[in-house]
Amino acid sequence: MQLLLNTLTPTREFWIDVKPISVRLLVYGDLGFFLGSSSDRGRVERRLSEKTSVKDVIESCGIPHTEIDLILVNGQAVDFAYAVTGDAEIELYPPGIQYSNSREKRLQTAAVTEFVADGHLGKLVRDLRLLGIDVVYDPAAEDRLLVKVASNENRALLTRDRRLLMYAAVQHGYYLRSQNPLEQTVEVLQRFDLGSILSPFSRCLLCNALLEPAEKEKVIGQLEPLTRIYYNQFRRCTGCGQVYWSGSHFTKLQKRLEQIRAKFGD
Ligand SMILES: [Zn+2]
Repeated sequence: MQLLLNTLTPTREFWIDVKPISVRLLVYGDLGFFLGSSSDRGRVERRLSEKTSVKDVIESCGIPHTEIDLILVNGQAVDFAYAVTGDAEIELYPPGIQYSNSREKRLQTAAVTEFVADGHLGKLVRDLRLLGIDVVYDPAAEDRLLVKVASNENRALLTRDRRLLMYAAVQHGYYLRSQNPLEQTVEVLQRFDLGSILSPFSRCLLCNALLEPAEKEKVIGQLEPLTRIYYNQFRRCTGCGQVYWSGSHFTKLQKRLEQIRAKFGD
Protein backbone atom coordinates (compact mmCIF):
# COMPACT_ATOMS: atom_id res chain seq x y z
CA MET A 1 0.00 0.00 0.00
CA GLN A 2 2.83 2.36 0.92
CA LEU A 3 4.47 1.66 -2.42
CA LEU A 4 1.29 2.50 -4.35
CA LEU A 5 0.87 5.83 -2.55
CA ASN A 6 4.44 6.75 -3.34
CA THR A 7 3.86 6.03 -6.99
CA LEU A 8 0.78 8.20 -7.16
CA THR A 9 2.09 11.19 -5.24
CA PRO A 10 3.91 13.54 -7.59
CA THR A 11 7.27 14.78 -6.44
CA ARG A 12 8.12 18.46 -6.22
CA GLU A 13 10.29 18.12 -9.36
CA PHE A 14 7.33 16.73 -11.28
CA TRP A 15 5.24 19.84 -10.57
CA ILE A 16 8.08 22.11 -11.65
CA ASP A 17 8.31 20.22 -14.94
CA VAL A 18 4.69 20.86 -15.84
CA LYS A 19 4.44 24.47 -14.72
CA PRO A 20 2.00 25.79 -17.33
CA ILE A 21 3.04 28.40 -19.86
CA SER A 22 0.85 31.52 -19.89
CA VAL A 23 0.23 33.13 -23.24
CA ARG A 24 -1.78 36.20 -24.05
CA LEU A 25 -3.03 36.73 -27.61
CA LEU A 26 -3.78 40.20 -28.91
CA VAL A 27 -5.46 40.35 -32.31
CA TYR A 28 -5.82 43.30 -34.68
CA GLY A 29 -7.95 44.20 -37.70
CA ASP A 30 -10.95 41.93 -38.12
CA LEU A 31 -9.31 38.87 -36.48
CA GLY A 32 -11.54 39.36 -33.43
CA PHE A 33 -14.25 37.86 -35.68
CA PHE A 34 -12.77 34.40 -35.04
CA LEU A 35 -12.55 34.71 -31.26
CA GLY A 36 -16.28 35.13 -30.70
CA SER A 37 -17.43 35.42 -27.10
CA SER A 38 -14.21 33.96 -25.64
CA SER A 39 -12.46 37.22 -26.38
CA ASP A 40 -12.23 40.38 -24.32
CA ARG A 41 -11.86 43.08 -27.01
CA GLY A 42 -9.37 41.06 -29.06
CA ARG A 43 -7.50 39.59 -26.07
CA VAL A 44 -7.41 35.91 -25.13
CA GLU A 45 -5.48 34.24 -22.29
CA ARG A 46 -4.36 30.63 -22.69
CA ARG A 47 -2.39 28.15 -20.60
CA LEU A 48 -0.20 25.59 -22.32
CA SER A 49 0.94 22.45 -20.54
CA GLU A 50 3.95 22.03 -22.81
CA LYS A 51 5.97 23.67 -25.55
CA THR A 52 3.64 24.31 -28.51
CA SER A 53 4.08 25.72 -32.01
CA VAL A 54 2.68 29.20 -32.37
CA LYS A 55 0.49 27.90 -35.25
CA ASP A 56 -1.19 25.45 -32.87
CA VAL A 57 -1.64 28.12 -30.19
CA ILE A 58 -3.31 30.47 -32.69
CA GLU A 59 -5.55 27.76 -34.17
CA SER A 60 -6.59 26.49 -30.73
CA CYS A 61 -8.20 29.94 -30.34
CA GLY A 62 -10.18 29.40 -33.56
CA ILE A 63 -8.12 31.50 -35.99
CA PRO A 64 -6.91 29.61 -39.12
CA HIS A 65 -3.25 30.33 -39.92
CA THR A 66 -4.23 31.46 -43.44
CA GLU A 67 -5.77 34.58 -41.84
CA ILE A 68 -2.50 35.68 -40.22
CA ASP A 69 0.05 37.84 -42.00
CA LEU A 70 2.32 38.82 -39.11
CA ILE A 71 3.02 37.22 -35.73
CA LEU A 72 4.97 39.04 -33.04
CA VAL A 73 5.99 37.01 -29.98
CA ASN A 74 7.19 39.36 -27.23
CA GLY A 75 7.71 41.95 -29.98
CA GLN A 76 9.74 39.72 -32.33
CA ALA A 77 8.38 38.62 -35.73
CA VAL A 78 8.25 34.82 -36.04
CA ASP A 79 6.88 32.21 -38.46
CA PHE A 80 4.24 29.54 -37.84
CA ALA A 81 6.76 26.86 -36.78
CA TYR A 82 8.10 28.98 -33.90
CA ALA A 83 7.88 27.05 -30.61
CA VAL A 84 6.37 28.83 -27.62
CA THR A 85 8.42 27.58 -24.66
CA GLY A 86 7.75 30.22 -22.01
CA ASP A 87 5.26 32.91 -21.02
CA ALA A 88 4.57 35.08 -24.03
CA GLU A 89 2.54 37.90 -25.47
CA ILE A 90 1.50 37.01 -29.03
CA GLU A 91 0.30 39.76 -31.37
CA LEU A 92 -1.51 38.79 -34.58
CA TYR A 93 -2.09 40.93 -37.65
CA PRO A 94 -4.26 40.06 -40.68
CA PRO A 95 -3.17 40.86 -44.28
CA GLY A 96 -3.62 44.48 -45.27
CA ILE A 97 -2.84 46.01 -41.87
CA GLN A 98 0.29 48.16 -41.91
CA TYR A 99 2.73 47.65 -39.11
CA SER A 100 5.90 49.69 -38.97
CA ASN A 101 8.65 47.27 -38.08
CA SER A 102 11.61 47.13 -40.42
CA ARG A 103 12.36 43.51 -39.49
CA GLU A 104 8.82 42.35 -39.93
CA LYS A 105 8.23 38.93 -41.40
CA ARG A 106 5.06 38.86 -43.50
CA LEU A 107 3.54 35.39 -43.83
CA GLN A 108 0.99 35.92 -46.64
CA THR A 109 3.36 37.50 -49.14
CA ALA A 110 2.45 35.62 -52.33
CA ALA A 111 0.06 37.31 -54.76
CA VAL A 112 -2.48 34.53 -55.24
CA THR A 113 -4.86 34.87 -58.19
CA GLU A 114 -6.09 31.26 -58.54
CA PHE A 115 -8.54 29.55 -56.23
CA VAL A 116 -10.26 26.35 -55.22
CA ALA A 117 -13.65 26.61 -53.51
CA ASP A 118 -15.34 24.13 -51.21
CA GLY A 119 -18.58 22.45 -52.28
CA HIS A 120 -21.08 24.90 -50.77
CA LEU A 121 -20.02 27.98 -52.70
CA GLY A 122 -21.56 27.52 -56.16
CA LYS A 123 -22.91 31.09 -56.41
CA LEU A 124 -19.62 32.67 -55.36
CA VAL A 125 -17.78 30.49 -57.90
CA ARG A 126 -20.12 31.60 -60.67
CA ASP A 127 -19.56 35.28 -59.80
CA LEU A 128 -15.78 34.89 -59.73
CA ARG A 129 -15.70 33.00 -63.05
CA LEU A 130 -17.95 35.67 -64.57
CA LEU A 131 -15.21 38.15 -63.63
CA GLY A 132 -12.65 35.92 -65.34
CA ILE A 133 -11.09 34.52 -62.16
CA ASP A 134 -9.77 30.96 -62.20
CA VAL A 135 -11.68 28.88 -59.61
CA VAL A 136 -11.58 25.08 -59.40
CA TYR A 137 -14.91 23.78 -58.09
CA ASP A 138 -16.52 20.40 -57.69
CA PRO A 139 -19.59 20.30 -55.42
CA ALA A 140 -18.79 16.66 -54.57
CA ALA A 141 -15.09 17.20 -53.72
CA GLU A 142 -14.02 15.80 -50.35
CA ASP A 143 -11.90 17.77 -47.88
CA ARG A 144 -8.78 15.76 -48.71
CA LEU A 145 -9.04 16.66 -52.40
CA LEU A 146 -9.60 20.37 -51.68
CA VAL A 147 -6.49 20.48 -49.50
CA LYS A 148 -4.48 18.61 -52.14
CA VAL A 149 -5.55 20.91 -55.00
CA ALA A 150 -4.84 24.03 -52.91
CA SER A 151 -1.39 22.71 -52.00
CA ASN A 152 -0.29 21.17 -55.33
CA GLU A 153 -1.58 23.99 -57.57
CA ASN A 154 -0.76 26.87 -55.19
CA ARG A 155 -4.42 27.95 -55.11
CA ALA A 156 -6.06 29.78 -52.24
CA LEU A 157 -8.78 27.70 -50.60
CA LEU A 158 -12.10 29.54 -50.20
CA THR A 159 -14.37 28.08 -47.55
CA ARG A 160 -16.66 28.65 -44.58
CA ASP A 161 -15.13 25.67 -42.77
CA ARG A 162 -12.29 27.04 -40.70
CA ARG A 163 -11.11 23.51 -39.85
CA LEU A 164 -10.13 23.08 -43.52
CA LEU A 165 -7.91 26.17 -43.39
CA MET A 166 -6.02 24.75 -40.39
CA TYR A 167 -4.33 22.00 -42.44
CA ALA A 168 -0.61 22.81 -42.60
CA ALA A 169 -0.63 21.87 -46.32
CA VAL A 170 -2.99 24.79 -47.03
CA GLN A 171 -0.66 27.74 -47.47
CA HIS A 172 -3.18 30.23 -48.77
CA GLY A 173 -6.85 30.48 -48.04
CA TYR A 174 -9.66 32.67 -46.89
CA TYR A 175 -12.58 32.18 -44.54
CA LEU A 176 -15.64 33.91 -46.01
CA ARG A 177 -17.19 36.13 -43.36
CA SER A 178 -20.52 36.67 -45.11
CA GLN A 179 -23.06 34.06 -46.15
CA ASN A 180 -24.27 36.29 -48.98
CA PRO A 181 -22.68 35.41 -52.36
CA LEU A 182 -22.45 39.04 -53.53
CA GLU A 183 -20.72 40.10 -50.30
CA GLN A 184 -18.49 37.01 -50.48
CA THR A 185 -17.41 37.95 -54.01
CA VAL A 186 -16.41 41.43 -52.88
CA GLU A 187 -14.57 39.97 -49.85
CA VAL A 188 -12.44 37.80 -52.17
CA LEU A 189 -11.70 40.68 -54.56
CA GLN A 190 -10.57 42.84 -51.63
CA ARG A 191 -8.62 40.22 -49.67
CA PHE A 192 -6.59 39.12 -52.73
CA ASP A 193 -6.49 42.56 -54.37
CA LEU A 194 -7.91 41.27 -57.67
CA GLY A 195 -9.22 44.57 -59.03
CA SER A 196 -6.55 44.87 -61.72
CA ILE A 197 -6.84 41.36 -63.19
CA LEU A 198 -10.59 41.16 -63.80
CA SER A 199 -11.60 40.08 -67.29
CA PRO A 200 -15.39 39.62 -67.47
CA PHE A 201 -16.88 37.10 -69.92
CA SER A 202 -13.54 35.41 -70.61
CA ARG A 203 -14.12 32.17 -68.71
CA CYS A 204 -16.71 29.37 -68.78
CA LEU A 205 -19.15 29.56 -65.87
CA LEU A 206 -19.68 25.80 -66.01
CA CYS A 207 -16.17 24.36 -66.18
CA ASN A 208 -13.68 27.25 -65.57
CA ALA A 209 -11.87 26.88 -68.94
CA LEU A 210 -11.17 29.98 -71.08
CA LEU A 211 -13.55 31.05 -73.86
CA GLU A 212 -12.44 31.71 -77.43
CA PRO A 213 -14.24 33.48 -80.30
CA ALA A 214 -16.11 31.02 -82.52
CA GLU A 215 -17.38 31.46 -86.06
CA LYS A 216 -21.14 31.17 -86.44
CA GLU A 217 -21.00 28.28 -88.90
CA LYS A 218 -18.89 26.27 -86.44
CA VAL A 219 -21.48 26.52 -83.62
CA ILE A 220 -24.71 26.75 -85.61
CA GLY A 221 -25.63 23.16 -84.81
CA GLN A 222 -25.77 24.03 -81.08
CA LEU A 223 -28.09 27.06 -81.52
CA GLU A 224 -31.86 27.46 -81.19
CA PRO A 225 -33.64 28.71 -84.39
CA LEU A 226 -34.13 32.31 -83.15
CA THR A 227 -30.56 32.56 -81.91
CA ARG A 228 -29.38 31.53 -85.37
CA ILE A 229 -31.31 34.47 -86.83
CA TYR A 230 -30.59 37.24 -84.36
CA TYR A 231 -26.98 36.67 -83.21
CA ASN A 232 -23.71 36.67 -85.11
CA GLN A 233 -21.00 36.80 -82.46
CA PHE A 234 -20.24 33.76 -80.39
CA ARG A 235 -17.71 32.44 -77.89
CA ARG A 236 -17.06 28.82 -77.20
CA CYS A 237 -15.56 27.16 -74.14
CA THR A 238 -12.20 25.55 -74.87
CA GLY A 239 -12.99 22.97 -72.18
CA CYS A 240 -16.59 21.77 -72.38
CA GLY A 241 -17.68 23.34 -75.71
CA GLN A 242 -20.51 25.43 -74.20
CA VAL A 243 -21.45 28.27 -76.57
CA TYR A 244 -22.02 31.81 -75.25
CA TRP A 245 -23.66 34.78 -76.98
CA SER A 246 -25.21 38.07 -75.87
CA GLY A 247 -28.77 36.78 -75.43
CA SER A 248 -31.18 37.30 -72.52
CA HIS A 249 -28.93 35.44 -70.05
CA PHE A 250 -26.18 37.91 -70.99
CA THR A 251 -28.28 40.85 -69.77
CA LYS A 252 -28.74 39.11 -66.40
CA LEU A 253 -25.02 38.48 -66.13
CA GLN A 254 -24.25 42.10 -66.96
CA LYS A 255 -26.63 43.20 -64.19
CA ARG A 256 -24.80 40.92 -61.80
CA LEU A 257 -21.47 42.45 -62.85
CA GLU A 258 -22.83 45.92 -62.20
CA GLN A 259 -23.99 44.88 -58.71
CA ILE A 260 -20.52 43.51 -57.92
CA ARG A 261 -18.78 46.60 -59.31
CA ALA A 262 -21.03 48.94 -57.32
CA LYS A 263 -20.29 47.10 -54.07
CA PHE A 264 -16.57 46.62 -54.79
CA GLY A 265 -16.20 50.32 -55.49
CA ASP A 266 -17.75 51.29 -52.13
ZN1 LIG B 1 -16.79 25.04 -70.19
